[in-house]
Amino acid sequence: SAKGAGRNRVAIFEMEMDVVAEERRNLELDLRASLAEQEMRLHYQPLVDLKTLRKTGFEALLRWEHPQRGVVMPNEFISVAEETGLIVQLGEWVVRQALEDATQWDESLSVAVNLSPSQMRSTSLVPTIVNALAQTGIAPERLELEITESILMQDSDVNIRTLHSLRDLGVRISLDDFGTGYSSLNYLRSFPFDKIKIDRCFVDEIDSRDDCKAIIKSVISLARNLGMKTTAEGVERQEQVDALRILGCDQVQGYLYGKAEAMDNCTDLRPVEKWVPRVGSASLPVAA
Ligand code: C2E
Ligand code: MG
Ligand code: MG
Ligand code: MG
Repeated sequence: SAKGAGRNRVAIFEMEMDVVAEERRNLELDLRASLAEQEMRLHYQPLVDLKTLRKTGFEALLRWEHPQRGVVMPNEFISVAEETGLIVQLGEWVVRQALEDATQWDESLSVAVNLSPSQMRSTSLVPTIVNALAQTGIAPERLELEITESILMQDSDVNIRTLHSLRDLGVRISLDDFGTGYSSLNYLRSFPFDKIKIDRCFVDEIDSRDDCKAIIKSVISLARNLGMKTTAEGVERQEQVDALRILGCDQVQGYLYGKAEAMDNCTDLRPVEKWVPRVGSASLPVAA
């Protein structure tokens, strides 16, 4: 009967929900154990100065080497870590590990670390950063903390106070994924950020869509008027670099100049190679 079929569909739906819930519980349990099991790794992606084409620093990006699942990417576990509060412990590990790794690099290089909303609210954030800076001897100016607009949406007064205490230490603060939130412009006057990171969704089409180009142009000019630097995220093609340079963007980050990788190549300080388009093995002529 129709009623029977309806009941069956509900039963199947509930079974599927059970599977989803159980999968999430498993992920949470594994995540709880991941630090003790030493399954977390930091990979580093270069940030490149557009004037000199030299690396100015690296962003630390989490990778979870799960014994059964393989490498789990942050988009698959950061939200679970955030919802369960595990992100506080995980984030403190990230800060300590990134600063420790940076002791191996040239002193001209900065290290960027992402912070999530729960971390911002945690009373242990500032002490953790103070201690990690003291223990590693890394100059506070070399540490860049990346936050997103979501941090300014909730508990904004408390979070802005925390941002000021961090900045009083000499640490730099970047606004990540700029342009993807709800009222970006409003957040720009809530705190004097050191840097705006322009989200990849605009950068992707900078050379093919006039509206994306116009938005990036405005953001760069806005940032400059506010005394902030700009980094374009997700740069994959030389044409994007060319357009960004004309618009006066300060830095780029993206697959064109390197994916996030294990620390090994954080010591190569040569300017990044000028990219040459290739078809098969033959190089195309590059316009002068
Ligand atoms: P994000 O901070 O905006 O980091 C940039 C993301 O874009 C990284 O993804 C990076 O690998 C990717 N990316 C960089 N260049 C390119 C490119 O040219 N093309 C494309 N398609 N992608 C590019 P990833 O590593 O998967 O991280 C995703 C997000 O997870 C990060 O976005 C950040 O919000 C979060 N995350 C990563 N590590 C941490 C962490 O230690 N703590 C916290 N709270 N969040 C983290
Ligand atoms: Mg980031
Ligand atoms: Mg980003
Ligand atoms: Mg992003």
